[in-house]
Amino acid sequence: MSELNVVAISNAKLPDDPFVARHLIDGAWKDSAEGETFERVSPSHGTVVTRAAQGNGADVDAAISAARKAYDAGAWRATTGKDRATLLLKVADLIDRERDRIALLETLESGKPISQARAEIEGAADIWRFAASLARTIHGESHNTLGNDFLGVVLKEPVGVVSIITPWNFPFLIVSQKLPFALAAGCTAVIKPSEMTPATTVILGELLIEAGCPAGVVNIVLGYGDPVGIAMTTDKRVDMVTFTGSTAVGKGIVKAASETLKKVSLELGGKNPQVLFPDADLDSAIDAIVFGVYFNAGECCNSGSRIIVHEDIAEEVVSRTVALSRDVPFGDPLDPSTKVGAIITPDHQKKIDTYVQQAANHGGDIRLGGAALDVPGLKGQFYQPTVISNVTGEMPIARDEVFGPVLSVLTFKTLDEAIALVNDADYGLSAGVWSENVHTCLEFARRAQAGTVWTNTWMDGFAELPFGGLKESGQGRELGKYGLDEFLEAKTVTMRIGKTRSPWVA
Ligand code: NAD
Repeated sequence: MSELNVVAISNAKLPDDPFVARHLIDGAWKDSAEGETFERVSPSHGTVVTRAAQGNGADVDAAISAARKAYDAGAWRATTGKDRATLLLKVADLIDRERDRIALLETLESGKPISQARAEIEGAADIWRFAASLARTIHGESHNTLGNDFLGVVLKEPVGVVSIITPWNFPFLIVSQKLPFALAAGCTAVIKPSEMTPATTVILGELLIEAGCPAGVVNIVLGYGDPVGIAMTTDKRVDMVTFTGSTAVGKGIVKAASETLKKVSLELGGKNPQVLFPDADLDSAIDAIVFGVYFNAGECCNSGSRIIVHEDIAEEVVSRTVALSRDVPFGDPLDPSTKVGAIITPDHQKKIDTYVQQAANHGGDIRLGGAALDVPGLKGQFYQPTVISNVTGEMPIARDEVFGPVLSVLTFKTLDEAIALVNDADYGLSAGVWSENVHTCLEFARRAQAGTVWTNTWMDGFAELPFGGLKESGQGRELGKYGLDEFLEAKTVTMRIGKTRSPWVA
């Protein structure tokens, strides 16, 4: 594979011992009630990164009891916006201080490049600061037009106890898209990180304690979806579940939570298209295609995993994308020059390859890659940058979330045809358009069924801008002021003024 840019094992030093992760329950670090543990093996280096307590029903019960007690006692709920903001800002500073430690564990657990992990931790600190700014803005509304006898007031109150369940692909960022907003709103929380990536959420727990977060306000239970996640979504004492993960598990959570009618907010999968018109700035577009599909090894809800190209420029776009793909440094995630690291598990690597081989068997043309990648000196699993042209809308590789460094190329003739391909999807997370014509971009933005539309860019995100999906990509929004609203309920207070109420019974 000399024609690819492969980064062999670097001389970066690995930690001497695995990180030891325990549950955080009511302000104390705890082993599992039954003493069970599990290990996370690095997908790139094959070494044990983390040894974690493996939670069960008793651990979840204790964590929910602590969160419920802390909420009902009102210690956190009664704090001022100013006090909540002060805590969140302290946490942000501590995240900055611990950036390199968090980034190293994030890289070793997830396989993502260290440079990207550092950027992710920096971005997470920024979100904590943004949520702090929102903590001081919570207010409802008043209604002074209900007649002389009435004043109506709408209070914004915290939802209550929130279960936060996160995936492995951006563990620190995603918990930071939820927890600071929940805390800003006055909620208490029980968090379950993915079993693949428990360490960085545990470090966040340490930082919360150091910042002065009261006992029971934030609890962490480590372990698997079954039984930990299930208990967190079915327990009556939980008021809301906020989940990021696969659409299949998200649907199960909606069913599980329906028994007790919890509020549910979901950030799920995507099959995100970038559409290229003939007048696009191809230098920028092709760079964005390569970034969009290989970032985080394609293990990204926002992966730009399908491009829809006008047929007049299709061949040029494919050949230039293939050429640029060869330059992308794939390999040791601990080397600062690496842009694409390891695949999360051997099973996932197999799943990616199955999609690729199936596409090849059904007429897809593999223009680059299509196989595992050997990285000299490393034992983990890596996949080659892969570009498949001649893909049609009904092929599984064009419809399913492959979650690997695999690009499908489809073509169109007219804007209507492009929009039809974009919207012919179960998902509706994000979409992009490349054209120098503002009318084309705006028409696309209006007609694309997606929670986010990028015009002449891809995957830029800001704490100020809401993020979330349509259709089977989810419900609810994170970030922006909408991200705070998710954790608030409206309470109506109707007040009679003076002794003017006319008796119902004369
Ligand atoms: P997953 O659904 O397998 O697991 C997510 C979390 O849910 C993990 O913590 C897991 O232990 C837990 N879980 C599993 N079964 C459960 C159950 N029955 N009840 C409660 N919890 C359960 O997802 P994953 O493989 O960790 O993450 C990848 C998926 O996440 C992809 O589909 C990706 O698109 C999605 N994702 C979406 C966004 C977004 O913002 N839309 C962001 C990142 C990832």
